[in-house]
Amino acid sequence: MRLRNVKGSRETIAANPLVIQDITEQKGHWHEVFGNDQPIYIEIGMGKGQFIIEMARRNPDKNYIGIEKYSSVLVRALEKCETDAPENLRFIRMDAEAILDVFAENEVSGIYLNFSDPWPKDRHAKRRLTYRDFWDRYRKILKPEGEVVFKTDNRPLFDFSLEEVEIAGWSLVNVTFDLHHSEYVEGNVMTEYEAKFSAKGNPIHRLVARA
Ligand code: SAM
Repeated sequence: MRLRNVKGSRETIAANPLVIQDITEQKGHWHEVFGNDQPIYIEIGMGKGQFIIEMARRNPDKNYIGIEKYSSVLVRALEKCETDAPENLRFIRMDAEAILDVFAENEVSGIYLNFSDPWPKDRHAKRRLTYRDFWDRYRKILKPEGEVVFKTDNRPLFDFSLEEVEIAGWSLVNVTFDLHHSEYVEGNVMTEYEAKFSAKGNPIHRLVARA
């Protein structure tokens, strides 16, 4: 979903107070950024931000941080917040590989992975955000009762992720291969990709896992 050469996107991001710049300095102090003790939820690979912005609007008693690797994509989320930015929402531009440099142990209450890039070639499996090494990182930053919620329409990636959950020693709280026709659909907030692919008739798979 990389949008190439969105002119001035780096400068826009550097100047926007919703984007936290000195991210490693906030490690262990994210509550100070929000000025309260509300639980912190993150979405890794948020794309244009539809999901995390709506989650922040619906849940003012929680804090949200949207993480995106590319400036050209992150600016699209900022545009959505131009007139009415939720106070409980911030953004970070970074590669999730470095997540342990940014969040301290037990700092995060929940992690959302929505329609993560599938990296279909076997030799790229380690780049998938549900590869075992990522689960080890997620365990470190999550509170003991914290959960990872992963949605995708990509069945091979979902099957891979179910295997990786087990290899990493996590427990599945619930799993559905067709979220929109399941008991878990109530309260579901759609992502941009979810809206696009479910409109094409693709079933949406979702797992919830706990360390
Ligand atoms: N979550 C959104 C949705 O469901 O509509 C976007 C899905 S899009 C397929 C995946 C997004 O994850 C892209 O915007 C991509 O740039 C971002 N991404 C991929 N790998 C990442 C990483 N290692 N760290 C941060 N963001 C990443």
